Amino acid sequence: MILRIALIFFLFCFFNLNIPAQDSGLNKIDVADLKRHLNFFASDSLQGRAFGTPVSGLDLAANYLKKNAREIGLVSGADDFFQSFPVISSKPDFENNFLEITDANGKSLYKTDSVIVLPSGSGVNISNAELVFAGFGFQDEKSGYDDFQGIDIRGKVVVFATGTPESFRKNELIRWDNSLETAKIEKATEAGAVLVLLVNNPLDESNSVFNRLSRWVNRNDFSLEIPENSTGNNSFACTTSPQADVLLGGSGKLKNLLAGIAEKQKPNSFPVKRKQITVNVNRKTEHFQAKNIIGIIEGSDPVLKDECVVFMAHYDHIGIDTSGNVFNGADDNGSGTVLLLEVAEAFMNLNPKPKRSIVFLWVTAEEVGLLGSQYYIQNPVFPVEKTVACFNIDMAGRVFEPRDTIWNKSAKMVKDFDGLYTLTNDIWPGLKEINSAACKTLDLIPDYSLPSSFLRSSDHFSFHRHGIPIINYSTGYHADYHKVTDKISRINFDKMKRVADLCFLVGIEIANREKIEFTKNESTN
Ligand SMILES: [Zn+2]
Repeated sequence: MILRIALIFFLFCFFNLNIPAQDSGLNKIDVADLKRHLNFFASDSLQGRAFGTPVSGLDLAANYLKKNAREIGLVSGADDFFQSFPVISSKPDFENNFLEITDANGKSLYKTDSVIVLPSGSGVNISNAELVFAGFGFQDEKSGYDDFQGIDIRGKVVVFATGTPESFRKNELIRWDNSLETAKIEKATEAGAVLVLLVNNPLDESNSVFNRLSRWVNRNDFSLEIPENSTGNNSFACTTSPQADVLLGGSGKLKNLLAGIAEKQKPNSFPVKRKQITVNVNRKTEHFQAKNIIGIIEGSDPVLKDECVVFMAHYDHIGIDTSGNVFNGADDNGSGTVLLLEVAEAFMNLNPKPKRSIVFLWVTAEEVGLLGSQYYIQNPVFPVEKTVACFNIDMAGRVFEPRDTIWNKSAKMVKDFDGLYTLTNDIWPGLKEINSAACKTLDLIPDYSLPSSFLRSSDHFSFHRHGIPIINYSTGYHADYHKVTDKISRINFDKMKRVADLCFLVGIEIANREKIEFTKNESTN
């Protein structure tokens, strides 16, 4: 009996309130508008919307979003819709960077520019330091093997090779093992070394590891002026084996020493006598002003309006190539950017408005390191603990074409018309159920199979790290991803509309839900 009354009441609510309300929103999401917005947004006049370049295309994009957010009726969530923040960029100072080996009297024996400093963005200035050679810089608690045993590295530069005695003995394919090398460097720094000079393993004859790291640090590196967790990274220098040979007394010396250590499984570490090292690696910096665009719809419930649901999309892309070709980024992420304008319009058309407030957030500088979302989460409009969910829409305008099979080895090859990648973290399991139900209404098939590594792949990562439930929609990688051919002619607007409809349906459900219970509410990395 009670159940029946409850059911009738439920049906009454459902049909008399929710459906017309939903329809009044859904009717606003319109293919013609999506086309109109993207026609401008993915046009050459926006010059590929790159952050940190001298062209002004990204500003045009920001102004367009501000103008439209205002016309839709959103309330500014920042200083006249713009949340501005400083970004610093750095590039190696190639002309002045060097590694020099001198004798005990300071006479130069050897000088090279074949040296880099990691992590990216850091520099090193060390003059005439003493050196200690420490094999592979490897310690193994189980076997008791310890390259640092019996040597004093305090205040000195410690030199060791990438890899381990075992990997050397087995002649294993040399690759960069980040967790191994990081642990080695941390231990040496803890023991008081002023600098780790990591030498590319001589088995890697083409220096592939060093070259890869060089390409990484030699690029233009962008970061927030006030970085998020500024816990001093252990910086270290990296070079190739010829430099180590000079230190150790002749060509092939490093390889022989390592071979001996590996063979006998016995450390052979020693202070390098009568030689000193100077490492000078600096970067040239430049300062930029960045902008997120923030528009808000205030919630209608006197209590729940202090909580919010965030809809986010990055509006920057990768600019122009050296021959002047423009990367329009119609899908990446023109699609997500303009789709949010339509979602905002749909929510604005609701009367009453959803109980919780809705934040529309267009973030910048995603392509250079998720900086806009990083800044927002440090300076949110609603506190982190009042942010019940964040939607990130990144690349949501494509449908599979046969040439897209170049991505068939990826877990994220572009979907057919009905499919949609839906990535969520496990902070609020209920989110998946809400999403699946809304997908069913729209005949969409959500694919939840993306590995957790994709949590780092776009701006949702900044929210995920702060323990906020996230949901990321994407149609997947296609043949034109990060190519000049990512053009509007290849966008499927009907698909885009379905994703916008889904954002609206899932968003309205979350924004109106009385109670939301997270299972995990601490920071997640
Ligand atoms: Zn993107």
